[in-house]
Amino acid sequence: MNVSLRQSVSHQIRKYPYLRYILKTAKRKLDEKKYGDLYYRNTLQELNDINIDLIPRKLKRPQGSLIEITNACNLNCLMCNTKLSTRPASLMLPEVFERIIKQLKVSGINTAGLHTVGETFVYKDLDILLGIAEKHNFRVWISTNAQFPECIEPLFRKFPKTFNDLRISIDGATRKTFEEIRVGGSFDKVIETLDVVKKLNEGKKFFKIDVS
Ligand code: SF4
Repeated sequence: MNVSLRQSVSHQIRKYPYLRYILKTAKRKLDEKKYGDLYYRNTLQELNDINIDLIPRKLKRPQGSLIEITNACNLNCLMCNTKLSTRPASLMLPEVFERIIKQLKVSGINTAGLHTVGETFVYKDLDILLGIAEKHNFRVWISTNAQFPECIEPLFRKFPKTFNDLRISIDGATRKTFEEIRVGGSFDKVIETLDVVKKLNEGKKFFKIDVS
């Protein structure tokens, strides 16, 4: 790794402190390889040369935002405490949503994920919220548990500029593990959801699916 790339990585770590965790995890994984392989040894050396102890820089403003439009969810996943919450399940009023968007725009933020806990597509009148977002030239991304394939295409067709980023949580690569972890979920719906995403992106040049 050349010096400027190393400095650039350090700079990014300073800006986004969570990268430090990713880097440390990568180093630990490589360490576990016991230096057995030249490639791993060299990579570990490169990582060791990056200064990850710089003090995180305080940014002038937040870099992104999340708006919890609902805390309700149709599933009961093993790792999630949503169902233990004592907050009553509710939906955000459109006027509250609009007020938040206006405030975010004043802060220079033009995008938000409509998610913290809960399932976004439980919000049946999502088109009202997306209409508000579009009016304010505000982009949203949606995180879903992939149980609402029928909701994706109509919203995407209606608001292609406002809603074009969908994140899907699956947590199980087989029907068995998926349905054990995502209690109440249907693996068939996941497949249907992925089919919808694939269909919507057919023929597009820079379409990509990230898996993490
Ligand atoms: S889908 Fe998400 S919010 Fe709902 S129970 Fe599972 S992890 Fe929790």
